[in-house]
Amino acid sequence: MLTKVIEQAKIDHFIKWLDRADKIVIVSHVGPDGDAIGSSLGLWHFLDSLGKTANIIVPNAFPDFLKWMPGSKEVLFYDRYKEFADKLIAEADVICCLDFNAIHRIDAMGSAILAAQARKILIDHHPHPEDFCKIIISHPEISSTSELVFRLICRMGYFSDISKEGAECIYTGMMTDTGGFTYNSNNREIYFIISELLSKGIDKDDIYRKVYNTYSESRLRLMGYVLSQMKVYPAHHAALISLTKEEQGRFDYIRGDSEGFVNIPLSIRGVVFSCFLREDTEKPMIKISLRSVGTFPCNKLAAEFFNGGGHLNASGGEFYGTMEEAREVLEQALEKYKPLLCAKG
Ligand code: 5GP
Ligand code: MN
Repeated sequence: MLTKVIEQAKIDHFIKWLDRADKIVIVSHVGPDGDAIGSSLGLWHFLDSLGKTANIIVPNAFPDFLKWMPGSKEVLFYDRYKEFADKLIAEADVICCLDFNAIHRIDAMGSAILAAQARKILIDHHPHPEDFCKIIISHPEISSTSELVFRLICRMGYFSDISKEGAECIYTGMMTDTGGFTYNSNNREIYFIISELLSKGIDKDDIYRKVYNTYSESRLRLMGYVLSQMKVYPAHHAALISLTKEEQGRFDYIRGDSEGFVNIPLSIRGVVFSCFLREDTEKPMIKISLRSVGTFPCNKLAAEFFNGGGHLNASGGEFYGTMEEAREVLEQALEKYKPLLCAKG
C-alpha cells in the first residue's frame, strides 16, 4: 500500500475539473528531460484512455534518447509551432503544469499560460512553487513528477486504466530523475510502484538500455575528452568539467549528448560536489549543471551564484558571460561554501 501523499481535497477538486473538461493541455519545462516527458506522457496516456482531447506542449525539443517513448511524436514544440500551440493553450479547459515550479522555466510559453482562461493545476516536486495554478500539488520529498502522476491516477481510482505504454513513460521519469535509482531513491514505496508498473508488462531492463545505452560513438569520445580536461579541487571536495561550443563542434555534439556527464566526477573518492559548464548553442550563455552527494545544498549555490535553483542534490542555472568568467564565479562559490563542502555528513 502507498502512503496518501497528495491531499484528498486536491484530488477531489481535480476529478471535478476533469469531469467537465474536454480539452486538456499538458505543459512542461524548457530542455525537457526524462521526467518532464515521462510525467507528461504518463498523464497523456491516462487522459487519452478517458476519451479526453489532450495535447502536450513543451518549450523546445527533447533529446533523441527519449524518442522511443510511446506517444512522444505527439509532443508539440512551442518554438516550432507557436501559433498552433497558442491556440490550444487559449482554448484549453484545463492546463496541467508538470515538473516545474516557476513560470520562467517554460520560457516564452509563460505569458500564454498565464493569460489562458483554463483551470490550472501544478504537479511538481521542486521546492517553493510559484502561485500561478489554482490546484498546487507540490511534493519536493517525492523524487520525480512521474511518481506523483502515478500516485494521482491511483488515488483517483484509475490504476486499472494505466496502460503498458503509460506505465513505460512513468517508469522512465522515475528512473531518470533518480539516476537509475542511485540517488533520491531510498523511499521503499518507489519499489512498490515499480512492482505495480511491472504488473502492466513493462520491461524495465529494456527501458534502461533504450535510455542509457543508445548513444553514438562520438558521444563516448566526447565523454572521454571532457573527463580528460576535468579540474579537481581536492581542498573543496569538488570537481569541474566544461564544454565549449568549439569542442561540441569537434565531437558532432547533438542535444542530449552531455546528459549524465555531471554525475561522473562524483564517483571520485572524497568528491561531494560536481559542476558542469556548457556553452549553450541557442542562447549566449553558459548552462550550469550542479550535483552533490549527502547534505551539500547545490540548489543554494545555484541560486546565489548562477541565478538558478533546483533540488538539494541536483540543480542548475545560467551564466551570461564567458566560460572563463563562469569558472571564476564557480571558484568564488567554492571558496564561500568551503566549510559546507568540507563538513562531515
Ligand atoms: P540539469 O542539471 O539536469 O539541467 O538540472 C537539474 C535540476 O536543476 C533540474 O531538475 C531543475 O530542477 C534545476 N535547474 C536546472 N537549470 C535550472 C535553471 O536555470 N533555473 C532553475 N531555477 N533551476 C534549474
Ligand atoms: Mn523532475
